[in-house]
This record gives sequence, structure tokens and C-alpha cells, in this order.
Amino acid sequence: MANIPFLDLKQSYLELKDDLDATFQRVMHSGWYILGEELQTFESEFADYCGVKYCIGVGNGLDALHLILRAMDIGNGDEVLVPSNTFIATWLAVSYAGAIPVPVEPDEKTYNMDPARIEAAITKKTKAIMPVHLYGQPADMDPILEIAGRYQLKVIEDAAQAHGARYKGKRTGGLGDAAGFSFYPGKNLGAFGDGGAVTTNDSMLAEKVRSLRNYGSQIKYVHDVKGINSRLDEMQAALLRVKLRHLDEWNARRLKLVECYRRCLTGVDVLLPKTPPGFDSVFHLFVIRTTRREALQSELKKAGIETLIHYPTPPHKQGAYGLMKAIDLPIAERLSQEVLSLPMGPHLSVDMADEAAQQIRRILESHLT
Ligand SMILES: *Cc1c(COP(=O)(O)O)cnc(C)c1O
Repeated sequence: MANIPFLDLKQSYLELKDDLDATFQRVMHSGWYILGEELQTFESEFADYCGVKYCIGVGNGLDALHLILRAMDIGNGDEVLVPSNTFIATWLAVSYAGAIPVPVEPDEKTYNMDPARIEAAITKKTKAIMPVHLYGQPADMDPILEIAGRYQLKVIEDAAQAHGARYKGKRTGGLGDAAGFSFYPGKNLGAFGDGGAVTTNDSMLAEKVRSLRNYGSQIKYVHDVKGINSRLDEMQAALLRVKLRHLDEWNARRLKLVECYRRCLTGVDVLLPKTPPGFDSVFHLFVIRTTRREALQSELKKAGIETLIHYPTPPHKQGAYGLMKAIDLPIAERLSQEVLSLPMGPHLSVDMADEAAQQIRRILESHLT
């Protein structure tokens, strides 16, 4: 029987062990652990990588998005358009700022916010659109920016799954007014703990986020606004600098697996993700669709192949958004019942992906499902 894990995080450590261990030692010996040189250097390296002027390291991806909204003075009673089929953190960032998340359904083929459905969701209270580059594939930003321009709305990228992805040649992180990244360990650029960042070309916004992440303070013991404590620490920043140097290569490895999945699953009765020309996904996840998901997942498990579901319950059906469960979001609901994420990561071999795909073919072509 195969033993194919969904994602083996320890392999990222082992591949870069010498470099990471030396970095760990360097930070420990520095005697400086919060808001220091490692963070500053990481911020400038990650800003360069994304092709933006500013990067502000924060505690996690949720805080990155929440602090962007606060810095834009979006809050009480304001509405922010979010995808109906995203991870709940996108919505929570809006709620935490005091604003209301207003769901927009996705294009079923790309899984991303459908620009054709945005205008119908705009009201007098709408202040921003927060597209997610879901599963690593950029949202269709041009029409989103065009609508935002016409209605004078801010555009905030939730880039938590899309480090290094490109839209028409331009990296995510610099496609809207600001972007929030997560460095949760399983993300394409993952820390060894929690971490996140805001990227933007807007110097005023950058200064506000810089203050908000540090108790609302720019000068020690001077507090102009009620900020929070959400800082990317020196250890995580230093370790991320090591991993950032490998991000492009590791993303390229994901693409090799995608080629294998696409090749091996051609002709099999599943829907494969669509990546239109000009959309360079970094495949945080490779998500297929089938109406026989439960059976397929359990048969794959019996064959030693681990798969996950992103996400089994859309945010509006969660207890946290109890009052919204009555609203009708049929696409998000259907996707939540049919999507299946196949093993994916920079340390999965093409042979393993091939084996997983062969098993999918065998299961779906037999009478097992
Ligand atoms: C991971 C993720 C977040 C939140 O990031 P954390 O660092 O876990 O807080 C937000 N949005 C999306 C789409 C994510 O995948």
C-alpha cells in the first residue's frame, strides 16, 4: 500500500536544515527577538519579491487583513465584499474590524470571485472588495479593479495562499491597494509558527499598519491610536528569509506535480481546475471536483493516500455566522460538497502524484463509488 501524506512539512526543514539551524543560532545569540534587523531585512526582501514598495510583518494572516481594514478606516457598519467559498479568516478579518462581510459567489471553474457578480452586491455601505487568490491562483483582478474604480472602493488582496503567483505577469501582493499574506507553516511560504505580512505601495497605509501592529505606537510610549500587538518575530523573520530564497524553486516543483495530475487524470470523470492564460497559479492546493467525493476520499484513504477538503462548510453555514445560514449561496454550497484537495507540496515526488492519480482513475472507473 502507498503512503502518500497530503503534505509533509518536516521535509522543508530537512532540505534546508544547515541553513535554518545556523540562522536559529544566529538569532538566539543576537539577544534581540522582537522588532529588529531580521524583521526589517525580511520586510524589504519580501517587498522586493512582490514588486511593491512596503512590507510590514505581522503576527498572522488574519491580523494582516484586519489591520489593513483598520488602517483604511473601514469598520462599523461598512460592507466589504468577500468570496462565498473562502477560508473563514477572510470573513473574520472583516468582522473583527467591525464591518460586515458580504459574500460574492465564485466562478465554478476557477473557484475565484466572479467579477460578473460583484456589482449586484454593492450598496451605499460598500467600502472595499477583498478577492482571495484561492488555492494559489490569482483572482481576475482587472475587472475587479475596474469596478472598484467606478464605485471608489478599495481593493484588498487576500494573498494568504498565493506567494509568488502572477496575474498578467505581475506578482500578487501588488495588484490592489494592499494585500495580506499568511506564513502559516503549510502555506507556500511558511514559517515555523505563525506569521503574516501586509504589502502595499501606499506609504500612508504602510505607516498606519506599522503603528497598529505595535500598540498604535511609532515612538516608544506614544500611542495615537488603539493598536494591537501583532508582530512577526525575529526568529520567524530570519527563518522566512532562508525559505524565501527557495520559494520560486519550490513553487516550480508544485507545477511539475500539477502537470502530472493533469496528464494522468485526463479522461477520468473529475473536474480539474481551470487556469486561464495569464493566470500563473502557485498551486497552494490542487483541487478537483466530483459528485462522488465521499466515496473517492475513503477509497483513497484505504489505498494510503491522504486528501483534504478545502473547505467542507462555507463561512455562511458556520455557527460564527449563524444569522446568515438562511441566505442562498448555491455555488459555494455545491463546491463545499464536491471539492477534494490532492496531495501537494514541494516535497511530494512526481511518482507519488502519479500513484495518487492512478488510484483515482482505478477507483472512479471501478464500481467502488
Ligand atoms: C491561511 C489563510 C488566512 C489566515 O492566515 P493565518 O496566518 O492562518 O491567520 C486567511 N485567508 C486565507 C485564504 C487563508 O488561506
